[in-house]
Amino acid sequence: SSFSSPQQITVLGATGSIGNSTLDVIARHPGQFQVFALSAATQTDKMLELCRRFSPRFAVMASEPHAQALRDACKAHGLSVEVLSGESGLVEVSRHPEVDAVMAAIVGAAGLAPCLAAARAGKRLLLANKEALVVGGRVFLDAVQQGGATLLPIDSEHSAIFQSLPDDPATWQQRVEKIILTASGGPFRSADPATLKSVTPEQACAHPNWSMGRKISVDSATMMNKALEVIEAHYLFGMSPERMGVVIHPQSIVHSMVQYRDASIVAQMGTPDMRVPIAYGLSWPERIESGAAALDFASLSAMTFEAVDQHGHPERFPCLPLVWQVLQAQPGSTAVLNAANEVAVASFLDRRIRFDQIYQVNAATLEQSRFAAPQSLDDLLALDQQSRALANELVARLQA
Ligand code: NAD
Ligand code: MG
Repeated sequence: SSFSSPQQITVLGATGSIGNSTLDVIARHPGQFQVFALSAATQTDKMLELCRRFSPRFAVMASEPHAQALRDACKAHGLSVEVLSGESGLVEVSRHPEVDAVMAAIVGAAGLAPCLAAARAGKRLLLANKEALVVGGRVFLDAVQQGGATLLPIDSEHSAIFQSLPDDPATWQQRVEKIILTASGGPFRSADPATLKSVTPEQACAHPNWSMGRKISVDSATMMNKALEVIEAHYLFGMSPERMGVVIHPQSIVHSMVQYRDASIVAQMGTPDMRVPIAYGLSWPERIESGAAALDFASLSAMTFEAVDQHGHPERFPCLPLVWQVLQAQPGSTAVLNAANEVAVASFLDRRIRFDQIYQVNAATLEQSRFAAPQSLDDLLALDQQSRALANELVARLQA
């Protein structure tokens, strides 16, 4: 109600694309939400600006030198924000007793430890950081359950599925036949696969519909993003691999669908604006204004759909089929795939490997990796490191 005090929100990855959209939604509802903590990797100038605007109690930078720089800048501006650093700082602001909700919008496995901390502390966890769930798997879900946390999806597809499912999760297995994730197809949807050897990072990052961070933009271009999202859906909604499908929908209007036993399909639609799933995560089960424009059906041109290999080129998106393989393989395989892909994408962005070699690194890392099923955060982080080392060797070999 309007008499309750505002919810205290921690925004991890505040300087990124999702962080920026989250702060935009929060700023529209000052009586309802207050920024408790902000985090960023290295951008101290941008963080100073955000600290001035949102007056958080804590700010966290990835390293101590960046934290010290922000500390000095805050002091010079008369701001009383307490600046922490590193993983311990992220964990502290994610499980702090005064925090109600954590927006997890760090990119990559670096977000896993604070996500687990928020889960164990029983927070409302708004999950944009899909890699954390892909790496954490069952360990992550167990932490959510044991901590009594509320896990809400922020990825547009998963928010769409969540909005299209019945309220009671106990009914999902019975009523649902399958879930269908839509994919835009990215910038190379109809490119000749032979040309993918020579695409540049700039071309790969130029997404047709969404403006996003560089890593997820490259993932969208390889469709590795959809592979990670299938794994994410598997864990979030408990769907077995054969009950999940992917269809290309270039306009990104239908954000995903749920097909029920009776062949009825419920879809969620909207303009491609991440403030919609963010607002839903913040306000669930209520609805609040997001700042996004609604769809205007009168001026909508067409909505089209096509199979992933419609143009007869299964070799265009070879990363996507890897997902069915890892979901059938031993637990921990999704963490191996994620680590390989983070290394491969960073190497591509650094121009050390070609675009088409991202798949080669991912597939070879999966094939060569040997490990025991991870049981704890330490096991997961060790497996992540081990897989990165293997992927880095493969990158070095490709360059030689
Ligand atoms: P981004 O690159 O724009 O922002 C990433 C944020 O994380 C930045 O604030 C950065 O400072 C911080 N960060 C990066 N590495 C870090 C590290 N090692 N330690 C601490 N902080 C670190 O990325 P984004 O597009 O906002 O995506 C964030 C997450 O949300 C990703 O997991 C992505 O897959 C997911 N997601 C994004 C979108 C989107 O529209 N951008 C949509 C769905 C899901
Ligand atoms: Mg998505």
